[in-house]
Amino acid sequence: MNDPACVFCKIVDGQIPAMRVYEDGVCLAFLDIGPLAEGHTLVIPKGHFVRLEEMPDELLARIAPVFPRLARAVLRVTGADAYNILQNNGRPAGQEVMHVHFHIIPRQPADGLGYRWNASKYEGDRGRQFSEQLIAALKT
Ligand code: AMP
Ligand code: ZN
Repeated sequence: MNDPACVFCKIVDGQIPAMRVYEDGVCLAFLDIGPLAEGHTLVIPKGHFVRLEEMPDELLARIAPVFPRLARAVLRVTGADAYNILQNNGRPAGQEVMHVHFHIIPRQPADGLGYRWNASKYEGDRGRQFSEQLIAALKT
């Protein structure tokens, strides 16, 4: 399952060091080496999957409870009371490491990290068209 060229697989296998904070049978969490804020943590499946939609449902179900558990610990240790969970899929979305990972990023008021959210709006019938296409796509 693991990819010998993948940096996160190497961390899983212990071939390169990481500041590991949590591990169970299916996932590993460690501090991001380039933190956006102190306590910025990554959660990864131990198996090599490039993108979220490749992951089996059962694996996601096993990992999901780790997010709130780790988030509580990150909040307690950093003193933050806010956080983002970020998960990038594909280069245009900002994915640089091609092994699924979830960022847990603690946030402080006025921490300067910011967030670009350039909201637009659907014109005319466009929203209804999209929703109908999505409903059809979900059936296939
Ligand atoms: P992304 O842009 O979503 O693919 O994020 C990749 C993240 O992995 C970045 O925040 C990097 O700082 C982090 N990263 C890359 N290599 C390592 C490493 N060896 N140990 C810990 N974090 C890493
Ligand atoms: Zn990998």
